[in-house]
Amino acid sequence: MLSRRDFFYSTLALSAAWPRRVSLAGMQRALRFSASPFTLGVASGDPSPDGVVLWTRLAPDPLHGGGMGREPVDVQWRVGVDDRMARVVKSGTAVASSAWAHTVHVEVSGLEPQRWYWYQFQAGNELSPVGRTRTFPAAGSPVDKMRFAFVSCQHYEQGLYTAFEHMAHEDLDFAMHLGDYIYENPASDNRVRRHVGGELMTLEDYRNRYAQYRSDPALQAVHAAFPWIVVWDDHEVDNNYAGFISEHDDPVEEFAKRRAAGYQAYYEHMPLRRASIPHGPLMQIYRPFAYGNLANMFMLDTRQFRTDQPCGDNVKPVCAAVSSPKATLMGPTQERWLTSSLARSSAPWNIIGQQIMMGRLDRMPGPEVRLSMDKWDGYEVERARLLKFFAGRQASNPVVLAGDIHNNWVNDLHLEIANVKSPIVATEFVGTSVSTTGDGSDIPPALKAIVEENESVRFCNDQRGYVRCEVEKGHMRTDYRVVDYVTRPGSPIKTRASFVVENGKAGAQKA
Ligand code: FE
Ligand code: CA
Repeated sequence: MLSRRDFFYSTLALSAAWPRRVSLAGMQRALRFSASPFTLGVASGDPSPDGVVLWTRLAPDPLHGGGMGREPVDVQWRVGVDDRMARVVKSGTAVASSAWAHTVHVEVSGLEPQRWYWYQFQAGNELSPVGRTRTFPAAGSPVDKMRFAFVSCQHYEQGLYTAFEHMAHEDLDFAMHLGDYIYENPASDNRVRRHVGGELMTLEDYRNRYAQYRSDPALQAVHAAFPWIVVWDDHEVDNNYAGFISEHDDPVEEFAKRRAAGYQAYYEHMPLRRASIPHGPLMQIYRPFAYGNLANMFMLDTRQFRTDQPCGDNVKPVCAAVSSPKATLMGPTQERWLTSSLARSSAPWNIIGQQIMMGRLDRMPGPEVRLSMDKWDGYEVERARLLKFFAGRQASNPVVLAGDIHNNWVNDLHLEIANVKSPIVATEFVGTSVSTTGDGSDIPPALKAIVEENESVRFCNDQRGYVRCEVEKGHMRTDYRVVDYVTRPGSPIKTRASFVVENGKAGAQKA
Protein backbone atom coordinates (compact mmCIF):
# COMPACT_ATOMS: atom_id res chain seq x y z
CA MET A 1 0.00 0.00 0.00
CA LEU A 2 1.13 3.53 -0.74
CA SER A 3 1.80 5.75 2.21
CA ARG A 4 0.46 9.09 1.10
CA ARG A 5 0.10 11.35 4.04
CA ASP A 6 0.57 14.85 2.72
CA PHE A 7 0.56 14.47 -0.99
CA PHE A 8 -1.04 12.79 -3.92
CA TYR A 9 -0.28 12.03 -7.49
CA SER A 10 -2.76 12.75 -10.18
CA THR A 11 -4.57 9.59 -11.25
CA LEU A 12 -2.67 9.76 -14.50
CA ALA A 13 0.70 9.62 -12.79
CA LEU A 14 -0.41 6.75 -10.61
CA SER A 15 -1.63 4.65 -13.50
CA ALA A 16 -0.11 1.19 -13.39
CA ALA A 17 -0.11 1.17 -17.19
CA TRP A 18 2.34 4.07 -17.37
CA PRO A 19 4.24 3.60 -20.65
CA ARG A 20 7.80 3.59 -19.33
CA ARG A 21 9.53 3.79 -22.68
CA VAL A 22 7.76 7.04 -23.52
CA SER A 23 9.45 10.20 -22.25
CA LEU A 24 7.90 11.25 -19.00
CA ALA A 25 8.64 14.91 -19.60
CA GLY A 26 5.30 15.74 -21.14
CA MET A 27 3.43 14.18 -18.25
CA GLN A 28 5.14 16.18 -15.52
CA ARG A 29 2.49 18.87 -15.61
CA ALA A 30 0.13 16.21 -14.35
CA LEU A 31 2.35 15.55 -11.32
CA ARG A 32 1.02 17.46 -8.34
CA PHE A 33 2.32 17.39 -4.80
CA SER A 34 0.22 18.88 -2.05
CA ALA A 35 3.37 19.28 0.06
CA SER A 36 6.98 19.67 -1.02
CA PRO A 37 8.82 16.43 -1.76
CA PHE A 38 12.11 18.28 -1.10
CA THR A 39 11.99 17.71 2.66
CA LEU A 40 15.64 16.59 2.79
CA GLY A 41 17.12 19.59 1.00
CA VAL A 42 19.77 19.51 -1.68
CA ALA A 43 23.46 18.67 -1.73
CA SER A 44 26.46 18.58 -4.03
CA GLY A 45 29.73 16.72 -3.91
CA ASP A 46 32.82 15.15 -5.45
CA PRO A 47 33.82 18.36 -7.25
CA SER A 48 36.12 18.22 -10.26
CA PRO A 49 37.50 21.07 -12.40
CA ASP A 50 34.56 20.83 -14.79
CA GLY A 51 31.70 19.57 -12.70
CA VAL A 52 30.12 18.28 -9.54
CA VAL A 53 27.43 15.83 -8.43
CA LEU A 54 24.05 17.38 -7.61
CA TRP A 55 21.85 15.51 -5.16
CA THR A 56 18.30 15.51 -3.91
CA ARG A 57 15.64 13.03 -2.84
CA LEU A 58 11.90 13.16 -3.31
CA ALA A 59 10.45 12.30 0.09
CA PRO A 60 7.13 13.90 1.01
CA ASP A 61 6.93 11.46 3.94
CA PRO A 62 10.63 11.18 4.83
CA LEU A 63 10.55 9.13 8.03
CA HIS A 64 8.26 6.41 6.66
CA GLY A 65 9.96 5.19 3.49
CA GLY A 66 9.68 8.50 1.68
CA GLY A 67 6.05 8.25 0.61
CA MET A 68 6.72 8.23 -3.13
CA GLY A 69 5.19 4.92 -4.10
CA ARG A 70 6.73 2.79 -6.81
CA GLU A 71 6.58 4.90 -9.97
CA PRO A 72 9.64 6.63 -11.42
CA VAL A 73 9.40 10.42 -11.49
CA ASP A 74 11.17 12.92 -13.73
CA VAL A 75 13.17 15.54 -11.88
CA GLN A 76 14.39 18.63 -13.72
CA TRP A 77 17.68 20.19 -12.64
CA ARG A 78 19.27 23.52 -13.45
CA VAL A 79 22.66 25.07 -12.77
CA GLY A 80 22.96 28.84 -12.73
CA VAL A 81 25.62 31.46 -12.06
CA ASP A 82 23.69 33.43 -9.44
CA ASP A 83 21.61 32.59 -6.39
CA ARG A 84 18.39 33.69 -8.05
CA MET A 85 18.90 31.23 -10.89
CA ALA A 86 18.43 34.12 -13.34
CA ARG A 87 20.98 32.77 -15.84
CA VAL A 88 20.91 29.01 -16.27
CA VAL A 89 24.04 27.50 -17.86
CA LYS A 90 23.17 23.81 -17.66
CA SER A 91 19.93 21.90 -17.27
CA GLY A 92 18.48 18.49 -17.79
CA THR A 93 16.15 15.80 -16.51
CA ALA A 94 16.95 12.88 -14.24
CA VAL A 95 14.71 9.99 -13.29
CA ALA A 96 14.11 9.34 -9.60
CA SER A 97 13.15 5.71 -9.10
CA SER A 98 11.92 3.70 -6.16
CA ALA A 99 14.88 1.30 -6.55
CA TRP A 100 17.08 4.16 -5.27
CA ALA A 101 14.59 5.71 -2.84
CA HIS A 102 13.69 8.41 -5.38
CA THR A 103 17.12 9.98 -4.96
CA VAL A 104 18.75 11.93 -7.77
CA HIS A 105 22.49 12.01 -8.52
CA VAL A 106 23.31 14.28 -11.45
CA GLU A 107 26.93 14.28 -12.62
CA VAL A 108 27.18 17.72 -14.19
CA SER A 109 30.12 18.35 -16.51
CA GLY A 110 31.15 21.21 -18.81
CA LEU A 111 31.33 23.81 -16.03
CA GLU A 112 34.18 26.29 -15.59
CA PRO A 113 36.89 25.56 -13.03
CA GLN A 114 37.13 27.18 -9.60
CA ARG A 115 33.89 29.12 -9.53
CA TRP A 116 30.66 29.20 -7.65
CA TYR A 117 27.45 27.85 -9.15
CA TRP A 118 23.91 27.57 -7.86
CA TYR A 119 21.49 24.74 -8.57
CA GLN A 120 17.87 23.78 -8.12
CA PHE A 121 15.56 20.85 -8.81
CA GLN A 122 11.94 20.70 -9.87
CA ALA A 123 9.48 17.83 -9.63
CA GLY A 124 5.99 18.43 -10.92
CA ASN A 125 4.77 21.67 -9.44
CA GLU A 126 7.41 21.80 -6.71
CA LEU A 127 10.77 23.61 -6.64
CA SER A 128 13.63 22.59 -4.35
CA PRO A 129 15.64 25.06 -2.31
CA VAL A 130 18.59 26.56 -4.21
CA GLY A 131 21.98 25.08 -3.34
CA ARG A 132 25.41 26.57 -3.91
CA THR A 133 28.40 24.62 -5.15
CA ARG A 134 31.90 25.16 -6.44
CA THR A 135 34.12 23.47 -8.99
CA PHE A 136 37.77 22.63 -8.31
CA PRO A 137 40.64 24.46 -10.08
CA ALA A 138 41.86 23.16 -13.44
CA ALA A 139 44.28 20.24 -13.20
CA GLY A 140 47.81 21.47 -12.46
CA SER A 141 46.80 25.14 -12.57
CA PRO A 142 48.42 27.59 -10.13
CA VAL A 143 46.31 27.99 -7.00
CA ASP A 144 47.05 30.32 -4.08
CA LYS A 145 44.75 28.93 -1.46
CA MET A 146 42.39 26.11 -0.57
CA ARG A 147 39.92 26.44 2.27
CA PHE A 148 37.89 23.58 3.65
CA ALA A 149 36.61 22.14 6.91
CA PHE A 150 36.32 18.56 8.02
CA VAL A 151 33.85 16.93 10.39
CA SER A 152 32.81 13.53 11.72
CA CYS A 153 30.38 11.85 14.09
CA GLN A 154 26.97 13.49 14.16
CA HIS A 155 24.91 11.36 16.56
CA TYR A 156 21.41 12.80 16.25
CA GLU A 157 20.29 11.91 19.76
CA GLN A 158 23.37 13.11 21.62
CA GLY A 159 23.48 16.70 20.47
CA LEU A 160 22.22 19.47 18.21
CA TYR A 161 24.00 20.42 14.99
CA THR A 162 24.94 23.90 16.24
CA ALA A 163 28.42 23.46 14.77
CA PHE A 164 26.83 23.09 11.33
CA GLU A 165 24.83 26.31 11.80
CA HIS A 166 28.15 28.13 12.17
CA MET A 167 30.01 26.11 9.55
CA ALA A 168 27.42 27.01 6.89
CA HIS A 169 28.62 30.63 7.18
CA GLU A 170 32.33 29.84 6.82
CA ASP A 171 34.16 30.88 3.68
CA LEU A 172 35.07 27.41 2.37
CA ASP A 173 35.72 25.92 -1.05
CA PHE A 174 34.36 22.56 0.06
CA ALA A 175 33.75 20.40 3.13
CA MET A 176 34.84 16.93 4.07
CA HIS A 177 33.00 14.28 6.12
CA LEU A 178 35.14 11.55 7.68
CA GLY A 179 32.37 9.22 8.80
CA ASP A 180 29.70 8.39 11.34
CA TYR A 181 27.25 10.41 9.29
CA ILE A 182 24.48 8.38 10.96
CA TYR A 183 24.46 6.03 13.93
CA GLU A 184 22.78 2.65 13.71
CA ASN A 185 21.64 2.53 17.35
CA PRO A 186 17.98 2.17 18.30
CA ALA A 187 16.07 5.02 19.92
CA SER A 188 17.09 5.69 23.50
CA ASP A 189 15.47 7.71 26.27
CA ASN A 190 16.58 10.92 27.94
CA ARG A 191 18.58 12.27 25.06
CA VAL A 192 18.45 15.64 23.33
CA ARG A 193 16.58 14.08 20.41
CA ARG A 194 15.24 10.63 19.65
CA HIS A 195 16.04 8.23 16.83
CA VAL A 196 13.10 6.87 14.87
CA GLY A 197 13.08 3.09 14.91
CA GLY A 198 15.24 0.30 16.30
CA GLU A 199 18.75 -0.91 15.49
CA LEU A 200 19.20 -0.48 11.73
CA MET A 201 19.13 -3.76 9.79
CA THR A 202 17.15 -3.38 6.55
CA LEU A 203 17.44 -1.00 3.63
CA GLU A 204 14.21 0.68 4.74
CA ASP A 205 15.66 1.15 8.28
CA TYR A 206 18.81 2.82 6.97
CA ARG A 207 16.86 5.01 4.54
CA ASN A 208 14.58 6.29 7.28
CA ARG A 209 17.57 7.05 9.51
CA TYR A 210 19.30 9.09 6.78
CA ALA A 211 16.02 10.88 6.22
CA GLN A 212 15.75 11.73 9.90
CA TYR A 213 19.29 13.10 10.06
CA ARG A 214 18.92 14.98 6.78
CA SER A 215 15.68 16.61 7.92
CA ASP A 216 17.79 18.71 10.32
CA PRO A 217 17.84 22.30 8.93
CA ALA A 218 21.47 22.94 9.94
CA LEU A 219 22.66 19.79 8.20
CA GLN A 220 20.68 20.81 5.11
CA ALA A 221 22.26 24.27 5.28
CA VAL A 222 25.87 22.97 5.30
CA HIS A 223 25.09 20.72 2.37
CA ALA A 224 23.50 23.58 0.44
CA ALA A 225 26.46 25.91 1.15
CA PHE A 226 29.32 24.06 -0.58
CA PRO A 227 30.24 20.73 -2.17
CA TRP A 228 31.13 17.81 0.13
CA ILE A 229 33.65 15.03 -0.12
CA VAL A 230 32.41 12.19 2.07
CA VAL A 231 33.68 8.85 3.34
CA TRP A 232 32.06 6.52 5.84
CA ASP A 233 33.29 4.99 9.07
CA ASP A 234 31.66 2.15 11.01
CA HIS A 235 28.32 3.51 12.23
CA GLU A 236 26.95 3.87 8.71
CA VAL A 237 26.57 0.08 9.02
CA ASP A 238 27.47 -1.29 12.47
CA ASN A 239 29.71 -0.23 15.36
CA ASN A 240 33.34 -1.40 14.95
CA TYR A 241 32.64 -3.69 12.02
CA ALA A 242 35.67 -4.96 10.11
CA GLY A 243 35.17 -6.22 6.56
CA PHE A 244 32.43 -8.84 6.84
CA ILE A 245 32.80 -9.20 10.61
CA SER A 246 30.09 -7.41 12.54
CA GLU A 247 30.39 -6.01 16.05
CA HIS A 248 28.73 -9.10 17.54
CA ASP A 249 30.16 -11.65 15.09
CA ASP A 250 26.90 -12.33 13.26
CA PRO A 251 26.97 -15.00 10.54
CA VAL A 252 28.90 -13.53 7.62
CA GLU A 253 26.12 -13.99 5.06
CA GLU A 254 23.66 -12.24 7.31
CA PHE A 255 26.05 -9.36 7.92
CA ALA A 256 26.84 -9.09 4.20
CA LYS A 257 23.14 -8.38 3.60
CA ARG A 258 23.12 -5.76 6.32
CA ARG A 259 26.29 -4.17 4.95
CA ALA A 260 24.73 -4.08 1.47
CA ALA A 261 21.68 -2.30 2.89
CA GLY A 262 23.86 0.21 4.76
CA TYR A 263 26.06 0.85 1.72
CA GLN A 264 23.08 1.31 -0.60
CA ALA A 265 21.42 3.82 1.71
CA TYR A 266 24.75 5.65 2.07
CA TYR A 267 25.16 5.89 -1.69
CA GLU A 268 21.55 6.98 -2.08
CA HIS A 269 21.86 9.84 0.40
CA MET A 270 25.32 11.17 -0.47
CA PRO A 271 26.36 13.28 -3.48
CA LEU A 272 28.58 10.54 -4.94
CA ARG A 273 29.55 9.74 -8.49
CA ARG A 274 28.46 6.69 -10.53
CA ALA A 275 31.80 5.06 -9.70
CA SER A 276 30.48 4.64 -6.16
CA ILE A 277 27.24 2.85 -7.07
CA PRO A 278 27.22 -0.19 -4.76
CA HIS A 279 27.25 -3.77 -6.00
CA GLY A 280 25.67 -5.73 -3.20
CA PRO A 281 27.97 -5.41 -0.17
CA LEU A 282 30.80 -3.84 -2.23
CA MET A 283 31.20 -0.14 -2.90
CA GLN A 284 34.09 2.01 -4.14
CA ILE A 285 34.57 4.88 -1.73
CA TYR A 286 38.34 5.41 -1.57
CA ARG A 287 39.23 7.94 -4.24
CA PRO A 288 41.57 10.82 -5.09
CA PHE A 289 41.00 14.55 -5.56
CA ALA A 290 43.40 17.12 -7.02
CA TYR A 291 43.17 20.81 -6.16
CA GLY A 292 45.09 22.52 -8.95
CA ASN A 293 48.84 22.38 -8.34
CA LEU A 294 48.42 22.99 -4.60
CA ALA A 295 47.12 19.80 -3.01
CA ASN A 296 46.27 16.22 -3.72
CA MET A 297 43.76 14.53 -1.44
CA PHE A 298 43.30 10.83 -0.90
CA MET A 299 40.11 9.66 0.75
CA LEU A 300 40.50 6.26 2.38
CA ASP A 301 38.14 3.45 3.34
CA THR A 302 39.42 1.73 6.50
CA ARG A 303 36.26 -0.37 7.06
CA GLN A 304 35.33 -2.37 3.99
CA PHE A 305 38.61 -4.25 3.58
CA ARG A 306 39.96 -4.43 7.12
CA THR A 307 40.81 -7.53 9.10
CA ASP A 308 39.22 -8.01 12.50
CA GLN A 309 40.40 -5.87 15.40
CA PRO A 310 43.14 -7.66 17.37
CA CYS A 311 43.29 -8.54 21.06
CA GLY A 312 39.49 -8.57 21.55
CA ASP A 313 38.49 -5.12 20.19
CA ASN A 314 38.18 -1.87 22.13
CA VAL A 315 40.86 -0.63 24.57
CA LYS A 316 43.05 -3.58 25.53
CA PRO A 317 46.56 -4.51 26.61
CA VAL A 318 48.80 -5.19 23.63
CA CYS A 319 48.78 -8.79 22.39
CA ALA A 320 50.77 -10.40 19.57
CA ALA A 321 48.02 -9.86 16.97
CA VAL A 322 48.75 -6.10 17.02
CA SER A 323 51.98 -6.81 15.14
CA SER A 324 50.57 -9.43 12.78
CA PRO A 325 51.84 -8.83 9.23
CA LYS A 326 48.45 -10.03 7.93
CA ALA A 327 46.47 -7.36 9.78
CA THR A 328 45.22 -4.61 7.47
CA LEU A 329 42.98 -1.55 7.55
CA MET A 330 43.10 -0.63 3.87
CA GLY A 331 43.55 -4.01 2.23
CA PRO A 332 46.45 -4.61 -0.19
CA THR A 333 44.78 -3.08 -3.27
CA GLN A 334 43.94 0.18 -1.56
CA GLU A 335 47.35 0.37 0.09
CA ARG A 336 49.08 -0.04 -3.29
CA TRP A 337 46.78 2.58 -4.79
CA LEU A 338 47.56 5.03 -1.97
CA THR A 339 51.34 4.68 -2.00
CA SER A 340 51.64 4.61 -5.79
CA SER A 341 49.40 7.70 -6.06
CA LEU A 342 51.41 9.48 -3.38
CA ALA A 343 54.65 8.55 -5.15
CA ARG A 344 53.36 10.17 -8.37
CA SER A 345 52.08 13.29 -6.62
CA SER A 346 53.94 16.51 -7.39
CA ALA A 347 51.71 18.73 -5.23
CA PRO A 348 53.32 20.41 -2.21
CA TRP A 349 50.50 19.15 0.06
CA ASN A 350 49.24 15.57 0.23
CA ILE A 351 46.20 15.26 2.44
CA ILE A 352 44.98 11.85 3.54
CA GLY A 353 41.33 12.03 4.58
CA GLN A 354 40.41 8.97 6.58
CA GLN A 355 38.50 7.75 9.59
CA ILE A 356 40.66 6.74 12.54
CA MET A 357 43.58 8.15 14.51
CA MET A 358 46.96 7.15 13.12
CA GLY A 359 49.01 8.48 16.04
CA ARG A 360 49.77 6.11 18.87
CA LEU A 361 47.85 6.70 22.06
CA ASP A 362 48.55 4.78 25.26
CA ARG A 363 45.23 5.07 27.05
CA MET A 364 46.39 3.75 30.42
CA PRO A 365 48.09 6.25 32.72
CA GLY A 366 51.10 4.69 34.36
CA PRO A 367 53.52 2.05 33.08
CA GLU A 368 50.89 -0.29 31.64
CA VAL A 369 50.06 0.24 27.96
CA ARG A 370 46.55 -0.06 26.56
CA LEU A 371 45.65 0.73 22.97
CA SER A 372 42.36 1.23 21.14
CA MET A 373 42.34 -1.76 18.81
CA ASP A 374 39.87 -0.22 16.36
CA LYS A 375 42.41 2.46 15.36
CA TRP A 376 45.78 2.31 13.53
CA ASP A 377 47.21 1.25 16.91
CA GLY A 378 45.75 -2.22 16.28
CA TYR A 379 47.39 -2.50 12.85
CA GLU A 380 51.01 -1.78 13.62
CA VAL A 381 52.74 -3.35 10.62
CA GLU A 382 50.63 -1.57 8.02
CA ARG A 383 51.12 1.73 9.86
CA ALA A 384 54.87 1.19 10.03
CA ARG A 385 54.96 0.58 6.26
CA LEU A 386 53.10 3.83 5.64
CA LEU A 387 55.30 5.85 8.02
CA LYS A 388 58.39 4.44 6.33
CA PHE A 389 56.91 5.45 2.99
CA PHE A 390 56.35 9.00 4.34
CA ALA A 391 59.98 9.07 5.53
CA GLY A 392 61.12 8.33 1.95
CA ARG A 393 59.70 11.75 0.96
CA GLN A 394 58.28 10.57 -2.33
CA ALA A 395 55.30 12.79 -1.52
CA SER A 396 55.78 16.23 0.06
CA ASN A 397 54.06 17.17 3.28
CA PRO A 398 51.79 14.26 4.08
CA VAL A 399 48.98 15.43 6.37
CA VAL A 400 46.65 12.87 7.90
CA LEU A 401 43.09 13.85 8.83
CA ALA A 402 40.91 11.68 11.07
CA GLY A 403 37.65 11.62 13.01
CA ASP A 404 35.97 8.76 14.92
CA ILE A 405 37.35 9.46 18.38
CA HIS A 406 35.02 12.34 19.40
CA ASN A 407 37.81 14.64 20.62
CA ASN A 408 40.19 17.09 18.97
CA TRP A 409 43.82 15.97 18.70
CA VAL A 410 46.98 17.15 17.00
CA ASN A 411 49.73 14.54 16.72
CA ASP A 412 53.28 14.32 15.45
CA LEU A 413 53.65 11.10 13.51
CA HIS A 414 57.13 9.76 14.17
CA LEU A 415 58.87 7.28 11.89
CA GLU A 416 58.98 4.87 14.82
CA ILE A 417 55.55 5.64 16.17
CA ALA A 418 56.38 4.99 19.84
CA ASN A 419 59.79 6.69 19.72
CA VAL A 420 59.56 10.48 19.95
CA LYS A 421 63.31 10.70 19.26
CA SER A 422 62.78 9.31 15.76
CA PRO A 423 62.05 11.86 13.01
CA ILE A 424 58.57 13.31 12.53
CA VAL A 425 57.44 12.17 9.09
CA ALA A 426 53.86 13.46 8.95
CA THR A 427 51.35 15.61 10.79
CA GLU A 428 47.98 14.42 12.03
CA PHE A 429 44.89 16.53 12.68
CA VAL A 430 42.03 14.68 14.35
CA GLY A 431 38.66 16.43 14.41
CA THR A 432 36.13 16.15 17.20
CA SER A 433 32.51 15.11 16.76
CA VAL A 434 29.77 17.45 15.59
CA SER A 435 27.41 16.18 18.30
CA THR A 436 28.38 12.68 19.49
CA THR A 437 28.87 12.43 23.30
CA GLY A 438 27.14 15.77 23.95
CA ASP A 439 28.52 19.00 25.42
CA GLY A 440 31.95 17.86 26.60
CA SER A 441 34.42 20.23 28.27
CA ASP A 442 37.77 21.69 27.40
CA ILE A 443 39.81 18.81 28.78
CA PRO A 444 38.41 16.31 31.31
CA PRO A 445 40.92 14.94 33.89
CA ALA A 446 40.93 11.42 32.39
CA LEU A 447 42.03 12.77 29.00
CA LYS A 448 44.55 15.11 30.62
CA ALA A 449 46.27 12.15 32.27
CA ILE A 450 46.48 10.35 28.92
CA VAL A 451 47.82 13.40 27.10
CA GLU A 452 50.55 13.81 29.71
CA GLU A 453 52.08 10.45 28.97
CA ASN A 454 51.84 10.58 25.20
CA GLU A 455 54.58 12.93 24.10
CA SER A 456 53.65 13.02 20.43
CA VAL A 457 50.31 14.66 21.24
CA ARG A 458 50.47 18.41 20.64
CA PHE A 459 46.85 19.25 21.51
CA CYS A 460 43.71 17.68 22.89
CA ASN A 461 40.27 19.13 23.53
CA ASP A 462 36.89 17.54 24.24
CA GLN A 463 34.31 19.94 22.85
CA ARG A 464 32.13 19.58 19.78
CA GLY A 465 32.81 21.33 16.49
CA TYR A 466 34.78 21.14 13.25
CA VAL A 467 38.29 21.79 11.97
CA ARG A 468 38.78 24.62 9.47
CA CYS A 469 41.82 24.30 7.22
CA GLU A 470 43.60 26.78 4.99
CA VAL A 471 46.29 25.50 2.66
CA GLU A 472 48.76 27.74 0.87
CA LYS A 473 52.00 26.77 -0.81
CA GLY A 474 54.13 27.81 2.17
CA HIS A 475 52.00 26.46 5.00
CA MET A 476 48.83 24.77 6.12
CA ARG A 477 46.81 26.28 8.95
CA THR A 478 44.14 24.55 11.01
CA ASP A 479 41.64 26.25 13.32
CA TYR A 480 39.90 24.06 15.89
CA ARG A 481 36.41 25.56 16.00
CA VAL A 482 34.36 24.52 19.03
CA VAL A 483 30.93 25.23 20.47
CA ASP A 484 30.30 25.51 24.23
CA TYR A 485 27.26 23.23 24.27
CA VAL A 486 25.05 21.09 22.00
CA THR A 487 22.37 19.95 24.45
CA ARG A 488 20.50 23.22 24.00
CA PRO A 489 20.43 25.52 21.00
CA GLY A 490 22.32 28.71 20.33
CA SER A 491 25.91 28.14 21.40
CA PRO A 492 28.38 30.63 19.97
CA ILE A 493 31.48 29.26 18.27
CA LYS A 494 35.11 30.06 18.93
CA THR A 495 38.53 29.04 17.72
CA ARG A 496 39.95 27.01 20.60
CA ALA A 497 43.43 26.55 19.06
CA SER A 498 45.24 27.07 15.76
CA PHE A 499 48.20 25.25 14.28
CA VAL A 500 50.53 25.74 11.36
CA VAL A 501 52.52 23.20 9.39
CA GLU A 502 55.35 24.78 7.40
CA ASN A 503 56.03 23.40 3.92
CA GLY A 504 58.93 20.97 4.26
CA LYS A 505 58.73 20.57 8.05
CA ALA A 506 56.48 17.82 9.37
CA GLY A 507 54.77 18.47 12.67
CA ALA A 508 52.30 21.15 13.76
CA GLN A 509 53.38 24.36 15.47
CA LYS A 510 50.95 26.28 17.66
CA ALA A 511 49.89 29.38 15.71
FE1 FE B 1 31.56 8.29 16.07
CA1 CA C 1 50.47 3.72 30.25
